[in-house]
Amino acid sequence: MKQITLISGKNGTGKTSLTAAFAAMVQNAAFADCDVDAADLHIIFTPNIIEQFDFVGNKKVVIQQEECIRCALCHTLCRFSAIDHIRNQFYVREFSCQGCDLCRKSCPVGAIEQIDRKSGDYFISDSRFGLIVHAQLGVGEDFSGKLVTLVRENALKVANQYNKEYIIIDGPPGIGNTAMSSINGVDLALIIAEPTQSSLHNLKRMFTLTTKLAVPAAVIINKSDLNPEMTIEIINYCQENKLQLIAEVPYDRDFTYAMFQQKSLTEYKPESPTVAIIERAWNRIQKQLFL
Ligand code: SF4
Ligand code: SF4
Repeated sequence: MKQITLISGKNGTGKTSLTAAFAAMVQNAAFADCDVDAADLHIIFTPNIIEQFDFVGNKKVVIQQEECIRCALCHTLCRFSAIDHIRNQFYVREFSCQGCDLCRKSCPVGAIEQIDRKSGDYFISDSRFGLIVHAQLGVGEDFSGKLVTLVRENALKVANQYNKEYIIIDGPPGIGNTAMSSINGVDLALIIAEPTQSSLHNLKRMFTLTTKLAVPAAVIINKSDLNPEMTIEIINYCQENKLQLIAEVPYDRDFTYAMFQQKSLTEYKPESPTVAIIERAWNRIQKQLFL
């Protein structure tokens, strides 16, 4: 089984639209939406949830009032000022707490507990393209790297269970923790670039990351006709660094119109020249995967 992650330096490069366009033409794949902070693949996939799970990102610190002897030691020790007191009752300010566990370990009467705190949900769903694992992180919640790992683990599980040949992953933008979790160990990181100076800068950073993680990388330049000079600069960078250029995809408003109708471009306008380019891109990806 081969795993492919589409990544980009920032939102809006067309990563999700390209993932969906591939999804409609690839047989025998499972999918994972690892852009957990701004998940949107479900807009096109319109999945039917089969299973829903709680995502426990962190522990919550709770003071059992009936056991507390009001010694104030936890309040004194907490260097994040996360323990406050009102009318001689001590309580934890959830958003200030860093989960260091010092208060629980120090409490002389064991009045402090750490309990699981739900930070979001993740889902295994069915769709017209196949099974998809996706997630929803709670507002203001962190630990998205951990959630990406869970989404990938479950995608791998269903892909193995149903004998899938590919897992196609819509990755998060940037080179942070979530990006690392979404490309670690995959067979190909497909970097979606745009013909802008900042996108070239991001491409370089992402290539450095994939090299560090020993993940093979390749590039698609999306909206390539919007700035031909920059497209040539990106092509030159790819050639100099032996980074395979999979395709140059021109700007196409139909990606947006397709999304309005909750469709991939492949479904919305199958006769489109852009779809033909994406089909050729998929053939090249397969060649790269099975070299
Ligand atoms: S250390 Fe324990 S007993 Fe003392 S105030 Fe805090 S919770 Fe209460
Ligand atoms: S776990 Fe650490 S940060 Fe949180 S309230 Fe206790 S001492 Fe403060």
